[in-house]
Amino acid sequence: MAEQKGKILVIGGGISGVSTALEAAEVGYDVILVEKNPSLGGRVSRFYQYFPKLCPPLCGLEINYKRLKPNPYIQTLTNSEVESISGEPGKYQVKITTNPTFVNEKCVICDKCTEVCPSERESEHNYGLDKTKAIFIPHKMAYPARFTIDRDACDPSCSKCVEACEYDAIDLQMQPKTTDIEVAAIVYATGWKPYDANKIDNLGFGKVENVINNVMMERIAHGQGPTQGQLLRPSDQKKADSIAFVQCAGSRDENHLPYCSAVCCLASLKQARYARLANPDAKIYIFYIDIRSPGKYEDFATEIQKDENIIMVKGKVAKVTQGQGGNVVVEAEDILNGGKVSLEVDMVVLATGMESSMKGANLPDVVQLDENGFVAPNLQNHGILSAGVAKFPGDVNSSIQDSTGAALKAIQTVVGN
Ligand SMILES: Cc1cc2nc3c(=O)[nH]c(=O)nc-3n(C[C@H](O)[C@H](O)[C@H](O)COP(=O)(O)OP(=O)(O)OC[C@H]3O[C@@H](n4cnc5c(N)ncnc54)[C@H](O)[C@@H]3O)c2cc1C
Repeated sequence: MAEQKGKILVIGGGISGVSTALEAAEVGYDVILVEKNPSLGGRVSRFYQYFPKLCPPLCGLEINYKRLKPNPYIQTLTNSEVESISGEPGKYQVKITTNPTFVNEKCVICDKCTEVCPSERESEHNYGLDKTKAIFIPHKMAYPARFTIDRDACDPSCSKCVEACEYDAIDLQMQPKTTDIEVAAIVYATGWKPYDANKIDNLGFGKVENVINNVMMERIAHGQGPTQGQLLRPSDQKKADSIAFVQCAGSRDENHLPYCSAVCCLASLKQARYARLANPDAKIYIFYIDIRSPGKYEDFATEIQKDENIIMVKGKVAKVTQGQGGNVVVEAEDILNGGKVSLEVDMVVLATGMESSMKGANLPDVVQLDENGFVAPNLQNHGILSAGVAKFPGDVNSSIQDSTGAALKAIQTVVGN
């Protein structure tokens, strides 16, 4: 190995950031992995299953955490964000702030604190579909496995969790900490957020009961989600016997996201399968413009569509409105049969696309975004790199491959400067 000169900073601890960090650290390069949330895993840690194999993402993440934990070359900073970057390839000065979680490494997740905590807050992990206590762990397999306190949700005079903790793990006086580091290369692996469906006027999100988006559907299907995996609609917990999926909700649309996110068709087909398995009586309607299932995914898409209770309707949805008793009415074109359809269903899932986490963010000058807000290569500043969905929307497999490439580019910057 060439003589090592500098460290690699990876920003974002989703599957892409963790993969980039591991690829570089497992060949002996020092990596600092910074994640803004209290635990690693990113969006996929909230999915029920991965297409095409329909296996649980937490299993794959766990394998990565097993590699990460003993690796002496990786320093992981969760609940942390980069405040500033200056300098040049081979020599960047970076300021990182670590926000307090109010729980230290002595926590053994015994749960005594949640039993006594009187305050509640919306669960981000379940996209607001249910609540957690103010002291919470995002999910059972969170890494690091440690509680966090949302102080905004607490009664400031309350210290019941401190009294209940037998391990001296709670410190309500914990303060933010700033760290200054020097690194040779920086990889943005900051991923995506679901496109805000409230911005799509005609599809009812936020206005019509029982209209959810596709990331919420992942949580409803999940055994550790708000309905423990039962297919229940949010407004009244009624079993959903009919669901309509609306494809390209805000995608390939100049008024919203002009691009295709590459995964939404496959995600809806996967979720149609979740629904059919959770409720064998369920009828699923998928309204689509065209089904995009490139390369190896064609077999998966074909297989799912063999189910006669998954009904494909080629046509754009014009309107989603409230029906009787919490039902939802979908009005759409039906191009193949001609004419218009109006369908009343129990629940609607909007297949919203992936928007860059960095779009609209306050970024250091050295970071360049493309016209859609994804992190673009900076030819003048080649030590600033990107990996996974921070660079372009895609599936997990392509994100991991891209992360391996980003690790190599980062190593080249370390060695070449
Ligand atoms: C509904 C849906 C279902 C999907 N299902 C599948 C599937 O079954 N199979 C499949 O292959 N793909 C699927 N995908 C695609 C998959 O979600 C992405 O490929 C994957 O999430 C990319 O991982 P990532 O690490 O690049 O981004 P993310 O998962 O978004 O991770 C980014 C990480 O960076 C952190 N971060 C963000 N900003 C900052 C910051 N400023 N500082 C520090 N940290 C930051 C975030 O908190 C997060 O932890 C699906 C997508 C959707 C929309």
